[in-house]
Amino acid sequence: MTTCGELARFLMAYLDRELPEEQRASFEQHLKACPPCVIYLKTYEATIRLCKKSCAEDARLPGAVPEALVQAILKARRATK
Ligand SMILES: [Zn+2]
Repeated sequence: MTTCGELARFLMAYLDRELPEEQRASFEQHLKACPPCVIYLKTYEATIRLCKKSCAEDARLPGAVPEALVQAILKARRATK
């Protein structure tokens, strides 16, 4: 079962469709059960899209998620426990 930490770590691979089938399925299962991670994923995707638009290169953004967003997700997770 994918945890939130794993999800954050493999998000880029997931979006690039580089995850093995099994891990991908586990990933999607986690997304179904964890709304904060869906928000995280969508924000991440939007960030990449924006950057691809504004950058000439196919820029990768490891660790480019704003700290405030990370904190908000962690807080939301604690609240749903
Ligand atoms: Zn999660």
